[in-house]
Amino acid sequence: MTADGVATGGDLAIGVDIGGTKCLALVLRGDTVIDESRRETPSADHLAEHLIDMVSAIEERLGCRVPVLGVGAPGLVTPDGVVRASPNLRDAADVALGKRLRDVGRWRVHVENDATAAAYAEWATGVARGSRHVMMVTLGTGIGGGWVVDGKVHRGAHGFAGEIGHMVIVANGTPCPCGKRGCWERYASGSALRQFSGGEDGEVVARRAARGDADALSVMQTFADWVALGLANLVNAFDPEVIVLGGGVVESADMFLPVVKDRLREHLYSSEQRPCPDVVAAKHGERSGAIGAALLGRLH
Ligand SMILES: [Zn+2]
Repeated sequence: MTADGVATGGDLAIGVDIGGTKCLALVLRGDTVIDESRRETPSADHLAEHLIDMVSAIEERLGCRVPVLGVGAPGLVTPDGVVRASPNLRDAADVALGKRLRDVGRWRVHVENDATAAAYAEWATGVARGSRHVMMVTLGTGIGGGWVVDGKVHRGAHGFAGEIGHMVIVANGTPCPCGKRGCWERYASGSALRQFSGGEDGEVVARRAARGDADALSVMQTFADWVALGLANLVNAFDPEVIVLGGGVVESADMFLPVVKDRLREHLYSSEQRPCPDVVAAKHGERSGAIGAALLGRLH
């Protein structure tokens, strides 16, 4: 019970994943998701109010206060929860999201990079449980990267590690919302898949490919090859034990994962002389980021 007589759910934690198009919020009791909701992502200056409203609606539905609020945000997120830059969120520059949520005074708030949160979820409770070197790659509106290195979450010197979507993979290639050209996420994200298919959703292309449609199979092949090329560069640099693919596109993993694995081995430096890391779909699917945000929120 709080001072004003409202019940608190002591073991509950809310996790929110802010995506380029939608925000996914869920509630964990222990490791179990007991409530879930989605809303469209607003421009970054309205984000805090939007999340407060979303979380308040969840608490009302549950009939109790939830003490922990973890948020996964795309882009450069500082340890105190400022979103410095995020090319796939409108107007995101120096948004003090953590402070604005903390100022409400109702939750213990932690803001994390979304892919770092996803990596933590898959390592702690998902498909990479028991591994010590995990690379998480989320394929959504953009591409996010998160690492567990030697059993610890790796954030880099400023919290900005893992911006793998903006590794330049084609010199002077397709323009990216980040201002550069030829970034990997222009070729291997969910948005890129949509672009390759002439505007169709990834799931629609995957369904057509599963029926043997030649155009759809060719689109999936092209997409998988771009995914594999970027992964090979990352494996050359970081030598992970396992690569976990997350994000919305992973719902169609059956249609492109086998090609990704084959092509990764072909692209990898000296692949005959080394183990090639396994590439697996996230156990939590597109929920990884929100689950990881809730779990990390409990730790802070
Ligand atoms: Zn970029």
